[in-house]
Amino acid sequence: MNIPFSPPYIDDSVIEEVVSSLKSGWITTGPKVKALEEIIKKFSNAKEVLCVNSWTSGAIMILRWLGVKEGDEVIIPAYTYSATALAVIHAGAKPVMVDTTDDFNISVAAIEKAITPKTKAIMPVDIAGYPCDYNSILELVKRKKDIFQPTSEIQKILGRVMIISDAAHSLGGVYNGKPIGSNADIVIFSLHAVKNITTAEGGAICFNMPAPFDNMQLYTHLRQMSLNFQTKDAFSKSKAGGWEYDIIGLGMKCNMPDVNAGIGLAQMRKYPQLLTERKRIFDRYNKAFTKYEWAIIPPSGDGENIIGSYHLYALRIKGKDVDFRNAMIERIAEKGVAVNVHFKPMPMLSYFASIGYDINDYPMSYNNYKNEISLPIYPQLTNEQVDYVIDSVIESYKSLL
Ligand SMILES: *Cc1c(COP(=O)(O)O)cnc(C)c1O
Repeated sequence: MNIPFSPPYIDDSVIEEVVSSLKSGWITTGPKVKALEEIIKKFSNAKEVLCVNSWTSGAIMILRWLGVKEGDEVIIPAYTYSATALAVIHAGAKPVMVDTTDDFNISVAAIEKAITPKTKAIMPVDIAGYPCDYNSILELVKRKKDIFQPTSEIQKILGRVMIISDAAHSLGGVYNGKPIGSNADIVIFSLHAVKNITTAEGGAICFNMPAPFDNMQLYTHLRQMSLNFQTKDAFSKSKAGGWEYDIIGLGMKCNMPDVNAGIGLAQMRKYPQLLTERKRIFDRYNKAFTKYEWAIIPPSGDGENIIGSYHLYALRIKGKDVDFRNAMIERIAEKGVAVNVHFKPMPMLSYFASIGYDINDYPMSYNNYKNEISLPIYPQLTNEQVDYVIDSVIESYKSLL
């Protein structure tokens, strides 16, 4: 049996949406993007949602809007996909990496130790779709208000460190009994091809800024920022007589095209069912692996207030190290099953090591990484295929003892 790791969900409804965009005469940012923003907004409980061409460009844009500059710090976990750190660097600030806890997510105690007057934002990452402890993080930044030193107009108005959630994995999750999307000042979803919902490449920025910010105004402003800060988008300019526009600042060019939005729009209409399918697989893995003392099953929440999005199934092999895990992955691959590792902590990657990050400073991140294997989890997997994955993992483990 051959089981790929994470193929996109493409059915006839997805194809029809894309074809309808192609046939409409309008392929870039327009009605389909608007419809996708609306459906994500409803689904995620966010105040406003802006779609862009990737999580990465969305995060860079938000940090630039926040006004971070050289010398400013943004706290992130060492254990995440590198885009979290790269966005901070591109925006001109310094990523301050901190360690994680046993649930793969950023350690709030470590954030507390890392906060300085230079800290302008914290970017917690919902690893595998499992939500971080946002209540404690918000409580922490409020408690540290007195050491906050704003250096931009936006920072002054906010009056504290901004919380920007890297929710690349967690669209569909639940925090405090509410859908992920309203749990931080800014929440950014990734709509990259391997994520739960995709537009091939894309991202969705949720705005939940506290008063006196007006989220609707922010949406309009950031939308312009994503279009070179041009006051009129191409869709309005295409109308007769609507030629004139202004450029009101240094924006970016990171808007989402309608052809892409169509893919995500059709998927979002089915997302509740697709999530049920993901849960079916997650639960099936849990049920099989809890029987084995050597298997550490991933956190999944309490089923009510905290629920993951079932983006990854991050299995860990108790007491084993990198060599054993890598050998297991090879054996599993021989059986035709594609698995992955999420994530190799950033300090272990050449670029980050070259600019001074050291894996020895992040023992928990290393521990989470050293024996982690991400198993395939997506709606198209049949129970028979899932059982085949389970058997492959168990046989591979036993064969190496
Ligand atoms: C995928 C991913 C990103 C980047 O998303 P893009 O849309 O590809 O820019 C950021 N953070 C995490 C944790 C991711 O997994």
